[in-house]
Amino acid sequence: MILILASVLISVILSNRILRPIRKINKAAEKLGKGDYRADFSGKGYRETQELAKTLNYAAEELSRTDQLQKELIANISHDLRTPLTMIRAYSEVMRDIPGENTPENIQVVIDETNRLSELVTDLLDLSRIQSGTQKPNMEVFDLTELCREVLGRYDTLIQAQGYRILPETPSEPTYVYADRGMLLQVIYNLINNAINYTGADKTVTVHQTVSDGIVRMDILDTGEGIPEEQIPLIWDRYYKVDRVHKTSRIGTGLGLSIVKNILELHRAQYGVESKVGEGSCFWFSMPTVPVPEDESTDSSKTK
Ligand code: ADP
Repeated sequence: MILILASVLISVILSNRILRPIRKINKAAEKLGKGDYRADFSGKGYRETQELAKTLNYAAEELSRTDQLQKELIANISHDLRTPLTMIRAYSEVMRDIPGENTPENIQVVIDETNRLSELVTDLLDLSRIQSGTQKPNMEVFDLTELCREVLGRYDTLIQAQGYRILPETPSEPTYVYADRGMLLQVIYNLINNAINYTGADKTVTVHQTVSDGIVRMDILDTGEGIPEEQIPLIWDRYYKVDRVHKTSRIGTGLGLSIVKNILELHRAQYGVESKVGEGSCFWFSMPTVPVPEDESTDSSKTK
């Protein structure tokens, strides 16, 4: 009898020690499920329950962080959409109500703000398509050197009109890569755009392309203010701006580098930035080259 009583007592004590923390964890998990991120998981007792509680606390923290980021993102998008809309409305009303205000300058403001809106919406759509995986890369073999030249050609007007200098340091021979041509065009375009927006008083940007050991590397260099070291890991996040009240804060949508990062990761390319405050930045990416495609080699032998 004594033995039976003792064993029942021991099993009740043991099961209580195991079950109590699990019940508590279960209750906290229900709270978390309802969206209360303050749910506190404590798993006193066995090591396994303590570890489970630790993991769940970490999951709750991460969920809360993601939720916070999501809220900030919506607030940022709404703010950035509203600013140009407010300007367009204000200028249009002034032009409608006040005689003589229908000037080319005022109309230009409306056009600029409309362009900004359309740029923002396009960037948002691009980013969400890439991140959700709906935009699959259309892989093909193409010449990266020629693509670079094509992108640089788009800046001819800017160079002439605003005195920028873009120094292309690209090899004369083709460099073939296997990638989505349109997506890489966007990467190079976004990086050159940033370099132009943030470069120094000499208005110089250098686009450097090198091939070594079957790897092509693109460097886009500017002579601007540079980026403080602690900010470097953050600039790839969507909507991150080193200085929100910077004089050029109206430049860009804050999504450019996020799009670059997503595209390069989709291609498993290496990328990064080297920057020195006061000296400038060098944004780079690299990927493997592929052999000359057959139709190209037969074409060039024909022309030879
Ligand atoms: P934005 O539209 O604001 O340029 P991006 O995603 O392209 O957005 O860049 C994020 C932030 O990284 C910028 O706001 C800027 O603070 C910083 N940044 C990007 N490129 C450069 C550069 N070439 N020189 C200095 N800072 C840069």
